Amino acid sequence: MPIDATQPYDDSNIFARILRGELPSTTVYEDDHALAFHDINPQAPLHILVIPKGPYVSWDDFSERGSDIEIAGFVRAVGKVARDHGLVAPGYRLLANVGIDSHQEVPHLHVHIFAGKQLGPMLAR
Ligand code: AMP
Repeated sequence: MPIDATQPYDDSNIFARILRGELPSTTVYEDDHALAFHDINPQAPLHILVIPKGPYVSWDDFSERGSDIEIAGFVRAVGKVARDHGLVAPGYRLLANVGIDSHQEVPHLHVHIFAGKQLGPMLAR
């Protein structure tokens, strides 16, 4: 079910539970601002999710309420994860779903990193 990204943050969501160590994840990177782990249902040969450590529902929420330090730290973390996986030369795709029309399912901001094959043109069907 897609979530309504205008709702307040609900800290019972799956990614909040991963951040608290209540659920496992296959972590590939962690720093003060971000956690990155493999998507449980990969849509590409490499499919990593990067989430901020703070309580933000979506990119919209984060870009409005996140501090400059949190935003800089998160954006740098996304780039570092991609670089550390050798993705710059072959290329990769970033995606952040926001709300109902995008079918965002988890109400904690996450950026998808897709890579590992030629992903083709982006289709917004
Ligand atoms: P979105 O539709 O943008 O909200 O994407 C949510 C993503 O979270 C999906 O790609 C799911 O496969 C992924 N996901 C859900 N639960 C987990 C989990 N426990 N560990 C890793 N990825 C998850």
